[in-house]
Amino acid sequence: MAETIGFIGLGNMGTPMATRLAEAGHGLVVHDTRDNVIGPFLEKGAARAGSAEDVASRAETVLVSLPTPDIVEKVVLGEGGISGGSMVKTVVDLSTTGPRVGAAIAAKLKERGITFVDCPVSGGVGGAKAGTLAVMVSCPRPTYDRLEPMLKNIGKVFFIGEAPGSAQMMKLCNNLMSASAMAIAAEAITAGVKAGIDPAVMVDVINVSSGMNTATTQKFPKSILNRRFDYGFSTGLMFKDVRLCLEEAEGMGLDLETAKAVRSIWQKMNDQFGPESDFTRIVEMVERPAGVTVGKPG
Ligand code: NAD
Repeated sequence: MAETIGFIGLGNMGTPMATRLAEAGHGLVVHDTRDNVIGPFLEKGAARAGSAEDVASRAETVLVSLPTPDIVEKVVLGEGGISGGSMVKTVVDLSTTGPRVGAAIAAKLKERGITFVDCPVSGGVGGAKAGTLAVMVSCPRPTYDRLEPMLKNIGKVFFIGEAPGSAQMMKLCNNLMSASAMAIAAEAITAGVKAGIDPAVMVDVINVSSGMNTATTQKFPKSILNRRFDYGFSTGLMFKDVRLCLEEAEGMGLDLETAKAVRSIWQKMNDQFGPESDFTRIVEMVERPAGVTVGKPG
């Protein structure tokens, strides 16, 4: 049997990733603040841990998939956190946390002989279920070589470099583009609908044209044209990613004008629809003042 691993954070992404790891033969010790997400894992033979520290006292390798940098920091370094565990040697952060937090956590864990691995993923809930995520890793090379066979179960694994935080920066650059694509596709397709064009026809045309992007190939067909708005990624997380990317860019003295406009759109979306809303609802924010509806239920 493959190594028993700890998994903390069984949300939209964590559940399918942990499920794939269990299916690949890994024993799991799981923890989440929400009880209802633990049950299905216990039924399949996973062990429940009472805290993050407990997980880290029962597994050498602990994976986390958590919403925000402050929660990751708390779960890793806080009271009852992973760093207090007696067995843990490696912490793999699958969350999008930004380079600075990752680097700071890595430095603190190093003092305790624990290696922190930046391992953000891209590809959404669908990619997590199918095992086709992009898995971006930065950590010492020997650690990468040891983890790669396990990580291959969740997607295509890329070694970004040894510098702490570099995989997080890679991920933020990707998500800035994804957030921009979603926002501009919502605006362009709403404009086309206002001019009388069928949005399904627009998506078909765009997807063989130069405007094609992941909003038009994935989000519109799966969750927007049918008005389900159930893609599985929250507005709060999208806003966080854009904000973190711009903070990094600004920290390096860069002035990214398009990115600033995209941040203000996602800020507005976060304010109007709330951080828990599915991020595909940005179409509703754009279409309402336009007085049109993009797509129809079904
Ligand atoms: P989510 O909110 O669905 O899941 C987070 C889980 O963490 C929840 O089950 C929550 O109960 C748990 N949690 C929160 N605080 C906790 C704590 N203190 N201790 C233990 N468990 C705690 O979020 P998600 O969509 O699965 O995203 C997770 C991470 O992956 C985020 O950083 C996100 O940016 C990133 N990500 C998400 C997607 C996506 O499409 N959803 C894609 C790529 C990356």
